[in-house]
Amino acid sequence: MAAVETDRDAPSALCSEFLNFSAKDTAAKWLQVSNLPKEVYQHLACYVPKIYCLGPNLNPQNEDLLAPLLLQSPLEWYLCGEEPSVGLAKLEQNNQPSQLCGHVFKVGEPTYSCRECAADPTCVLCMQCFLGSVHKEHRYRMTTSGGGGFCDCGDTEAWKKGPYCQKHEPNISDSSQKDPLANLSDEMIARTYNVFSIILKYAVDMLTWEKEDELPEGLEPPARGDTYYCMLFNDEVHTYEQVIYTLQKAVNCTQKEAVSFATTVDRDGRKSVRFGDFQFCEQAKSVIVRNTSRQTKPLRVQVMHSSVVAHQCFALKALTWLGQIIRYSDALRRILCQVGLQRGPEGENSSLVDTLMLCDSKMWKGARNVYHQLFMSSLLMDTKYKKLFAIQFAKARMLITEENLMTTIIRTFMDHLRHRDLHGHFQFERYTAQQAFKFRRVQSLIGDLKYVLISRPTEWTDQLREKYLEGFSAFLELLKCMQGMDPVVRQVGQHIEMEPEWEAAFTLQMKLTHIISMMQEWCSSDERVLIEAYKKCLSALTHCHSGFTDGEQPITLSMCGHSVDTIRYCVSQEKVSIHLPLSRLLAGLHALLSKTEVAYRFPELLPLSELSPPMLIEHPLRCLVLCAQVHAGMWRRNGFSLVNQIYYYHNVKCRVEMFDKDLSMLQAGASMMDPNHFLMIMLSRFELYHIFSSADCRKRYNRENANKDVVQQNNTLIEEMLHLVIMIVGERYTAGVGQVECFDEIRREIVHQLCIRPMAHSELVKALPENENKETGMERVIDSVALFKKPGVTGKGLYKLRPESAKMFNLYFHHYSRADQSKAEEAQRKIKRQNGEDSVLPPPVLPRFCPLFASLVNILQCDVLLGILGAVLQWAMEPSGGHWSESMLQRVLHLIGMGLVEEQQHLLSSAEDNDTNFNFTLKISRPGEAPANTPSILALLETLQNAPHLEVHKDMIRWILKTVANIKTTRECTASAPPSDSSGHSQEETVRDKDKAERKRKAEMARLRREKIMAQMSEMQRHFINENKELFQQSLEELDPSTSSTLEHSPSSCDSTLFCVGPRRWRAGGSDRRQVVTCILCQEEQEIRIDGKAMVLAAFVQRSTVMSKNRKRPPHNPDKYDPLFMHPDLSFGTHTGSCGHIMHSHCWQRYFEAVQAKEQRRQQRLRVHTSYDVENGEFLCPLCECLSNTVIPLLPLTKTSCSSEQPDLSQWLNITSLQMKALLSAHRKAKAADADGVDDMDGVNDCPPPDGFKLDYTPKNPYSSTIKEMLTTFGTATYKVGLKVHPNEQDPRVPIMCWGSCAYTIQSIERLLVDEEKPLFGSLPCRQDDCLSSLTRFGSACWTVSSHATVQNHFIRLLAALVPDPRVENTPCILDIDMFHLLVSLVLSHPAVFSLDSSGLSADTAQLHFLHLVTVAHIVQILLSSVPEEVQMEQESGGAEREEEEKVCMFYNTLRTHLGSGLREVDSGWHLWCCVKAGILPYLRAAALFFHYLNGAPAPPELHTLGVGEWEALCGYLCLPSNLLQLFYNNRELMEPLLHGWCSHPGVLQGLQSSVALIRFPRESNHLIELPGDYSALINQASSFTCPKSGGDKSRAPTLCLVCGAMLCSQSYCCQSELEGVDVGACTAHTFACGAGVGIFLRVRESQVLFLAGKTKGCFYAPPYLDDYGETDQGLRRGNPLHLCQERYRKIQKLWRQHSITEEIGHAQEANQTLVGIDWQHL
Ligand SMILES: [Zn+2]
Ligand SMILES: [Zn+2]
Ligand SMILES: [Zn+2]
Ligand SMILES: [Zn+2]
Ligand SMILES: [Zn+2]
Ligand SMILES: [Zn+2]
Ligand SMILES: [Zn+2]
Repeated sequence: MAAVETDRDAPSALCSEFLNFSAKDTAAKWLQVSNLPKEVYQHLACYVPKIYCLGPNLNPQNEDLLAPLLLQSPLEWYLCGEEPSVGLAKLEQNNQPSQLCGHVFKVGEPTYSCRECAADPTCVLCMQCFLGSVHKEHRYRMTTSGGGGFCDCGDTEAWKKGPYCQKHEPNISDSSQKDPLANLSDEMIARTYNVFSIILKYAVDMLTWEKEDELPEGLEPPARGDTYYCMLFNDEVHTYEQVIYTLQKAVNCTQKEAVSFATTVDRDGRKSVRFGDFQFCEQAKSVIVRNTSRQTKPLRVQVMHSSVVAHQCFALKALTWLGQIIRYSDALRRILCQVGLQRGPEGENSSLVDTLMLCDSKMWKGARNVYHQLFMSSLLMDTKYKKLFAIQFAKARMLITEENLMTTIIRTFMDHLRHRDLHGHFQFERYTAQQAFKFRRVQSLIGDLKYVLISRPTEWTDQLREKYLEGFSAFLELLKCMQGMDPVVRQVGQHIEMEPEWEAAFTLQMKLTHIISMMQEWCSSDERVLIEAYKKCLSALTHCHSGFTDGEQPITLSMCGHSVDTIRYCVSQEKVSIHLPLSRLLAGLHALLSKTEVAYRFPELLPLSELSPPMLIEHPLRCLVLCAQVHAGMWRRNGFSLVNQIYYYHNVKCRVEMFDKDLSMLQAGASMMDPNHFLMIMLSRFELYHIFSSADCRKRYNRENANKDVVQQNNTLIEEMLHLVIMIVGERYTAGVGQVECFDEIRREIVHQLCIRPMAHSELVKALPENENKETGMERVIDSVALFKKPGVTGKGLYKLRPESAKMFNLYFHHYSRADQSKAEEAQRKIKRQNGEDSVLPPPVLPRFCPLFASLVNILQCDVLLGILGAVLQWAMEPSGGHWSESMLQRVLHLIGMGLVEEQQHLLSSAEDNDTNFNFTLKISRPGEAPANTPSILALLETLQNAPHLEVHKDMIRWILKTVANIKTTRECTASAPPSDSSGHSQEETVRDKDKAERKRKAEMARLRREKIMAQMSEMQRHFINENKELFQQSLEELDPSTSSTLEHSPSSCDSTLFCVGPRRWRAGGSDRRQVVTCILCQEEQEIRIDGKAMVLAAFVQRSTVMSKNRKRPPHNPDKYDPLFMHPDLSFGTHTGSCGHIMHSHCWQRYFEAVQAKEQRRQQRLRVHTSYDVENGEFLCPLCECLSNTVIPLLPLTKTSCSSEQPDLSQWLNITSLQMKALLSAHRKAKAADADGVDDMDGVNDCPPPDGFKLDYTPKNPYSSTIKEMLTTFGTATYKVGLKVHPNEQDPRVPIMCWGSCAYTIQSIERLLVDEEKPLFGSLPCRQDDCLSSLTRFGSACWTVSSHATVQNHFIRLLAALVPDPRVENTPCILDIDMFHLLVSLVLSHPAVFSLDSSGLSADTAQLHFLHLVTVAHIVQILLSSVPEEVQMEQESGGAEREEEEKVCMFYNTLRTHLGSGLREVDSGWHLWCCVKAGILPYLRAAALFFHYLNGAPAPPELHTLGVGEWEALCGYLCLPSNLLQLFYNNRELMEPLLHGWCSHPGVLQGLQSSVALIRFPRESNHLIELPGDYSALINQASSFTCPKSGGDKSRAPTLCLVCGAMLCSQSYCCQSELEGVDVGACTAHTFACGAGVGIFLRVRESQVLFLAGKTKGCFYAPPYLDDYGETDQGLRRGNPLHLCQERYRKIQKLWRQHSITEEIGHAQEANQTLVGIDWQHL
C-alpha cells in the first residue's frame, strides 16, 4: 500500500513551500507580467498536481485546506488589488440584489406552478416565493423537483400575472436600470475580466478534456510520476448489480466497497476504483472490460494520469469558486456573463458557454452539476443575460424566425427514424428496451418542439409566417412517412405466427398528439397561415393517395333509385392502416376553416374545388370499418397486437387526433356529398351493400340463411354501421362542426361520464383528454353540471350529475365503449323510474351544425337511410330468428327519434328563417318504394307497437308515435295560424285525451308514492347499516357460533358487593362454570373440561414497542436477557391477539399439517412467498383468514373454596417467609448435591418447613394430555416470538414470557380503552374478551408443564422485590419494576409454591395480599418518580378528601426521612394525592381486568359506563380501601421495615439523582408523530434531508417513521445494512430497533404509507392526506394541494395501537398477490 504513505507524506512535503508562499506577492507579480494567462497556467501547473490526487482517494481533507491558500487566494488578491476580505466587502456594499429568485432546486424539493397564471407548465416557484405570491390563492399544482431546475420568481415572461413574490417585488425607487458596472473602476473591471476569462477557460478546457495521459498546453507538470487512476464511468446500460459484481472481480474489493464504488459512480458519474502505476491500473481496466463486454457493451473505464485528474478536480473547485465570488456583486456577475457568452476564435457557437453545452452529454454527472449550478447563479440571475442565454438554450418564437428551429428539429427527428419501407413509411424494429433507449433521444426532440410551440403568437409577422409554414411543411413530410404505416391484413385460416410490431408507431403517435394539436392552434390564430397550411396539407394528402384508384376496380352502386360510382375495396381482404395523421390533420384544419369563418369569408382563396370528397373519406372510413369488423369478430386470428391498436385508437390519450378526427373527416366528406351516395359507399365498405341493395332486402330471413356465424357477423356490422350514422349526424360538439364553444365539448364529456355513475375528481380527469399543459379544462365547467359530495373516513369525494344536466344524455355518445353504454343506459333508466318519469331515453336536442356542415342533417331523411330503417323494422316484425338484433332495432329507433327531434327543432326555429325543407314525418309516412306497396315506416311502427316480443322497445316506439302526432299538430297549426305562439302545441289535447291523461296521471301518482316509500325504506336501512357498521360487525361476531357462551358475565343476584379478588370474592356456581363451545373445523360441540379434549383459540403473538417509553433502549441480547422483571419503560413487550375462533386441538393440528404440506409442494415448484410464513409456524385462521402463529388452549375456571379463617397480612407474611426459607435451602441443597454429589451442608442452613408445607410433594397434573400438549405449544410459541429465539420448551424463561405476555396484553388493552374513551368493561369485542380470559387462565396453568423448582425459584425472586431478602441476589429496586407485571407474575407463579401447602390456606388470600403489597410499592414508586417539579394546578377549595391528603402528606414525609435530600419537599397534600390517584389508576384498571378474567367475577355496573364513581367502584371491586394509604397505615409495623428496605436499595438513590429522567406515572399513551397540515411542508422537510451514509447526498426515497419521527434513506444501496445475516434497507433495519419488527412509515415522495412487518412482509396503505376533492394522491401524480385528514390519520394510529398492523398486511397481501412478490426488506 505505497499509496497510503504518499498520502501521509504529502502535507509535510508541502509544508515548507506553504510557509514560503505569499498570495499577495504572487498577485503582485501577476500584475506586472505581460502574458498573464501563461503565468497563471504555470502557477496551476506547478501547484495543482502537488495538492490534488496524491492518493487513492480523491478529495481528502487536506486538499480542501490547501487549495484556497495556494490557488484561490492569489486570484482573489489579484482581482481585488488588496486584501480580499476588504475588497470583497466593498464590492458587496454596492451589490444590487437580483430581482430574480433563481433558487436552485434540490432533489425532491417542492415546486409550485399556477394553473391559471404560469406561461407554461415549466414555470415554477420555490416554496418561499410561492407562499409570498398571489398564486397560493389560485389553482396551483405541486410537484417535487427532480433537482437542478430553478425558481422563476421575478421573471415577467414566465407569469401572466403576479410575477413577483413579496420578497422579490422590485423597489420602485431604484428600479432605474442602472448599469451594474458603473460603480467599478476601470482597472477593477479589467482585472476581473482577466481572471474570469483565464479561470473559466481553464475550467472549460479541463472539463471537456478527453485525453487520458496529456494536459493542455501550458499545464504540463514539472515532474511526472508513474501514478494513474483507473476511472470508472457511469452509463445507462449496466445495472447496479452488474457493476458491483464486476468490481469485486476486477479490483479485489469486498462487496461493501464495491457497493460504495457503484453508489458514487451512480451519483457523481465517475469514480476512481484503483490508484497506482500504469500497469496496475491497466490490468484492472482490462478485467472490467472483459467481464462486461459479454453483455451489450463494456463498462466505460479509463486509465488517467493523476495530473489530469488533479486538474479536473481543481477545475470543478474553480467553477464553484467563481460562483461564490459573483455572489458578492452584481457587477462581477455581469462580467462573468460577458466572458462566458463572448464568441471564441472559432466564430459561431464557440463561446465558453456554448462549448460546455455542446459537450454536456460527454461530461460526467458531477461536472455537469457543478457547471449547471454556475450557469444558474450567473446567466440566469442577470436580467439582461437571461434573455441572451435563453436564445442559446432554446426558447420561444424568435427561435422559429431567427434560428429556423422548428424545421431543424423536425429534420433531425426524421434523421433519427431512418428506417423506411418501400412506400417511404416508417418502419420500426421490435419495440425492445434497446429501441426505447433510442426513442428517448427522439422524445427529447419532441420535447424541444413542444417548447417552441408552447406559447402561441399574438401577433404574426411575415417572417414568422414564412418560417412557421416552412416548419409546417417539414412536419407534413414527417406525417407523410406515418400515413399508412404498420398496415394490417386480415388473417384467415390460421392465427398469425408472430404478433407484428405496433408499439413503436403508437408511441410515436402518442408523443406527437400534442404537437399536432398545437400546430392546429397556431394555424387557427392567423387566417393566412390557416389557408396556406390547409393547401399544403391537402396537397400532401393528395400526393399520398394519388394512386388511390390504381388497381382497384371501378364499380357502380345503386339503391332506392340512386346510383354512384366508386371502387371495389374490401377491408377484410386488403391492407388497411390505422395511421392516417395527414387525413386527420386535414380534418382538423377543415373544422378550423369553419370555426374561424375563413371558409365563408375567403372561399376564393381555398382549393375547395380540388377536394374530392370520396377520396377524403376513403381511408378514415376504412379505419372505422376495421374497428367494426374487429368488434364483429372477423379479425380474431390477427392476435392481440390488433386488439391493442384498436384500443389505443379509441383511448383518451390518442382519440383526439385519431378516432375523433376520422369522424370529423367523414362529416366533412359527407357534408359535401349527396347523402344517398355517401351511404351507399359506406354500405359497400362495411360489406353490407349486398344485404340492403337487393329488391327483397326486407325479407332477409327468407333469403339469407346460409351460415349462422356470417349472419351474426353481419348483424354486428349493421349495428356498427347504424351507430356510425348516428355519430356522423349527431356528433356536433366540435367547435367548427357544430355551433358550440370548446367548453360545451368538455361539459358534454363530463355529463356523459357522470351519467354512468358519480365519479371522483381523478376518475374524471382520467376520462378527459389533457392538453400539453396537462389541463383538461374541467374546472371551469364542472360545477355547472355536477354537485360535489365530500368523502367520509374511507372512500373519495364524488361528483354527482345535476338532475337538469341529464337531459343532455345521448345513449350513443361517441366516446362510450359498449360497456359504458349499457351501464349508462341502466343508470339513466333507473333514475328516471325513481323520479316517476317514463324511462324512455330519447335522443337529446342537439346544437345546430355550422353552415359548412349543415347539409349533414339530410342523411336522416335520405332515401337510402329510410330504406335501411324500413328493412330493419320489417325484419323485426318476426320474433328474432337471428336475423335482427335488439341493438340493431334500438339504433334504428334512435335514428328515427333523431329525425323527429331535428324536425321539431327546425319547426321551432322556422319562425325566424322559413327554411323548413326538413320534413322527416312526411318521409316516414310514405309507403316504401323499392318493392311497391310495402308499408311505411310509421305504419311498421304502429304495428310493432303491439308486438309482444318487443316489450323492451315499447316505450321508445310509443314516444316516437307521440312525437309524430305532436309534430303533425304543430305543422297543421303553423300552416293554419300565423306562426305567433311557439308554445301552442302543448295545449293541443282533445277532451278524450284529457280524460285518458287524467286516469293515467292518477295511476302514475299511485305508483310514484309506492316507489317513494320503498325507496325511503331501503335508504333508511342502508343508512342504518352504515351508521352502525361497528355494531353490526360486533353483532355478527356475537352470532358467530364459535365464540363461547360467556355465562360468567351475569352478576349473581345473591351477592350485593362484588369482589374479584380475595377470600370473599365472587365464586361461580357449578352450573355457571359449564362452558360449551363449537369447533369451527368439525362443527362438533365440546364442553371445556380439565380432563377433556383440548379446545384452542387461533392466536397471533408478536413483539411490541407500542407502549414503549424509551425507544433508545437497544434490543436485548436474546440469549442472555432475563425477562423476570419488566422495566417500567415497557420498551419491549409481547402482545397476544386472537380472532376468537375456536377449534379442537387435533382439528387444528391436522389443518396446520395440511397447510405445511401444501406450502412445501408450492415452494418446490416455484419460490413464491405467501402472506404467511409456515416455517415460522404461521397460518391463516381457517374461518376468517386472520394471520395467526399459535393457538391458546381454553381452560375452565378452577374450582376453589375458602375456609372462613384466613391469616391477616402479617400472619400470612410470616408463614410465607418461613415457606420461602425452607424452599430456598431445599433448592440450594439440591443444587449443591447436584454439583459435587457430596452432602456439603456448610453455609446452607437447614430450615424446617412450617406445618403442612411439604417440600418433597409433587402435585399431580390435573390436565388431560392434549391440554398439556397445548399448554406447552402456546408457552413455547410465546417464548420463541417474544425473545426471538429458537423454541426450547425446557428454557426456564418460558413461563416468565407467558406471564409477561398476559400482563402486557392487558395493559395495552387498558390503554386502548382509555384512548377510545370506552368503559373498562362491556365494550370489548368478544374476540378480545375470549382472548384475554383464555390468556389469563392459561397463565395460571402454565407452571404445570414447567419445572416446578424453576417456577418456585422465579416466585422467590419476585417476592424478594417486595419483601427484601438478603439471600436473594440481583433484585432490582422498585423504581425499575413495572408493578403490574410484578403483580401478574406473582399471582401466576404462586400456584407452584401453593401446591405444596396443605394447611388450609387459601390461594385467594395470597392473591389479595400480593395486590396490597404491590399497590403500596406502586404508591411509593409514584411518589418517588412522579411528583411534578412545579405545581401548576390551583388547589381546589373544599378538600373533600381531607383524610387522604393528610395521610399522603405524612407518608411522603416518611419517605423523605428515609431518602433525605433525595426527595424534594412538598407540603400540599392535595397535590400529592392527585398525583397518586392519577398515577395509580391505570394499574388499578389493569388489575381489575386481570382478576376479572382470572377469577371470572362479574364487574359492577359502574365500571360498565364512563364517568364519575370509577375510583370507588374500582377500589371496591379490587377489595381495596378507597383511601389507599390505609393499606400502609393499617399495617404500619409490618410496612415500615418494608418501606425502609425499598428505600435503602442503592438503585433508588441512584435513580433519583440520575440525570436520566425517571418514568413518570401515569404513562401517557403513545401517539404517532404529529404531521403538518400541508403536505408540501413534509416534502420540504424531506428535501433537506440528506443520506446519513453518503456524505451530504440527497436521499432518493426519504421515508418518515411515523412512530418516532426519524427520517430514513430508504430503498437505496447506500443505507443498506446487515440484519441477522441479510442485507436490508434502512426501513427494515429501523423497524427492528424502533418497532420490534413492525413499522409504519410515510414515503414522502410517493405520498404513501408503508407498513412493514418482519423482513418479508409489507403493504402500502392510503396516506392520511387528501386533496380538495377528497382523494389521496399516491405517487404524487396529480399535484393537487394535499391536506392532512385527521380522521384517517387516527385510523392508522388505531391500527397501530391495536397491534393490527401485521394483520392488515396479511389481509392486503391475501387480497393482492403482487404485494407478496415485493422485496420489502430492501425498502
Ligand atoms: Zn424563489
Ligand atoms: Zn420570489
Ligand atoms: Zn396564479
Ligand atoms: Zn374439531
Ligand atoms: Zn378467525
Ligand atoms: Zn421509528
Ligand atoms: Zn442513503
